[in-house]
Amino acid sequence: MADAKPTLPAPLVEALRRVRSAGVITGAGVSAESGVPTYRGKGGLYEEDESRIEALTGTTLRSDPDRTWRAVGDLARHAAGAVPNAAHFAIAEIERKVARFVLLTQNVDGLHQAAGSRNVIDIHGSITRTRCMACGAEGELSREELEAIHAAPRCAGCGGTLRPAAVLFGEMLPVEKVARMQRELLDDPPELVLVVGTSALFPYIVEPVLVARRARRLTVEVNPEPTVLSPVVGWFLEGSAAALVPEIAREIG
Ligand code: NAD
Ligand code: ZN
Repeated sequence: MADAKPTLPAPLVEALRRVRSAGVITGAGVSAESGVPTYRGKGGLYEEDESRIEALTGTTLRSDPDRTWRAVGDLARHAAGAVPNAAHFAIAEIERKVARFVLLTQNVDGLHQAAGSRNVIDIHGSITRTRCMACGAEGELSREELEAIHAAPRCAGCGGTLRPAAVLFGEMLPVEKVARMQRELLDDPPELVLVVGTSALFPYIVEPVLVARRARRLTVEVNPEPTVLSPVVGWFLEGSAAALVPEIAREIG
């Protein structure tokens, strides 16, 4: 059988070969092929059950932390055993090929770091890290502990209730990560801005792409379904992350 690999448009390939700096922006879709369900889009967890969103808000955390932790445990159980896929590895490869690189991810699954990405702004934090709501002590849960969680865990030091060190719906973004985003993506946009697998519902995900486009940088989106960004980017590539991102990585530099 003939080679079934997708081929990128020739003008895009030519532009990718000149790229010396890159910013990659990812959402849950990059982990879909690792078996981690997305929130929205086909098969998304919230397409099935909107009440999950409510469980993962700052308001629910304060009134009913057990409910928030049950939802976090659910997410962890959905992601159980997931390992990085070809898209995560290709993004780590892009980082090794260019002089300047930043990865802005909304994912809390740690798969980018596991694939070898280094300069990562995990804007929503990580669900394995915890913070005590009483004394502020930080801690870490193993994947096994997380998958077993059905109620809010307690602080070993003071007995207070722990929270996930992740940004819940309706909560503020960590200021130091926003500042890094500003410095590394907005002040002087990288030559390539590649956005993968995000429904792009948050303004801080859309903005770096708009800024890059206005600065006439190369902008590329990979998603099986069009988003608000699709008409904005220079190249909207309709398809899956694991199929297309390795193609892009191969042509860079
Ligand atoms: P989302 O669930 O809102 O959107 C997922 C997007 O990925 C959709 O646009 C969908 O079309 C696309 N997609 C589906 N399969 C794909 C594939 N194989 N290749 C490429 N794209 C694919 O996710 P989001 O935009 O990241 O949004 C919001 C929130 O979801 C974030 O707050 C994030 O923290 C959280 N989240 C994280 C994880 C994770 O860590 N893996 C999982 C679910 C949700
Ligand atoms: Zn404590």
